[in-house]
Amino acid sequence: MRLVFVIFIFLTSALSGCIGEDDISPEKRGIPGGLALACLQDSKFTKMELHFLYEENYDPRGMDLVKTRINEVCDKPNGIKIKAEMVDFTIDTSWTDDDVRDARWKHGGNAMGSSTLHWYFLFPKGTYSDDSVLGVAVDASTIAIFKDSVEEAEGFLGRPSAEDVERSVTVHEAGHLLGLVNLVYTSPIDHEDENHKGHSNNEDSVMYWAINSNDVGNFISGELPDEFDNADKSDLEGMASGELKTKNQLWT
Ligand SMILES: [Zn+2]
Repeated sequence: MRLVFVIFIFLTSALSGCIGEDDISPEKRGIPGGLALACLQDSKFTKMELHFLYEENYDPRGMDLVKTRINEVCDKPNGIKIKAEMVDFTIDTSWTDDDVRDARWKHGGNAMGSSTLHWYFLFPKGTYSDDSVLGVAVDASTIAIFKDSVEEAEGFLGRPSAEDVERSVTVHEAGHLLGLVNLVYTSPIDHEDENHKGHSNNEDSVMYWAINSNDVGNFISGELPDEFDNADKSDLEGMASGELKTKNQLWT
């Protein structure tokens, strides 16, 4: 009996040592675009989960749309799932990039580690440190959307509506995780805005530079783009096929 007990202790301590080591070396977080190929190709990740972590009364309104947009460009033969979860972030005033990263890695799990790719969309109370910013992408798998600022960005007479702004900003930030525009590759098409790096110069693209700031309320027609344009899609196809060289990837 004692021998069995000793073996049991030996086995469990060996196991916990092994698991402990994994805990000590955390997953690399990367830069926005660092998991672009992980989404665009299916060679390692055949499934994807989009996690929406939101503060009470900050329910995300762009979940289905962003899933549709990702599905249109990424290769996930075993499907993309939405997982929504209410979270108390404890910060309700001003957020920095580090605050967003800390909250995501505290409340969420790894992005990689299995055949499922996990991206996180945070919807906290409060604003970004620069409160004209509506959304940010802070590492390879993390986005935050600041709904308090989205509400403020609603256009004259509700055009565009706060809901439309939120949906466009959510897709826009997902576009940064896909590496748009020129974040982890160099496009053969001249569509990056000269004065707003990482953004499109086409106001019909969801990657247009004004989409993640409160300038969106000034879209006079009230029609906000919520889709990638042909140049964006061509870049994504080039990355997926290998025709465009993609750098700073967290796996491959
Ligand atoms: Zn942006």
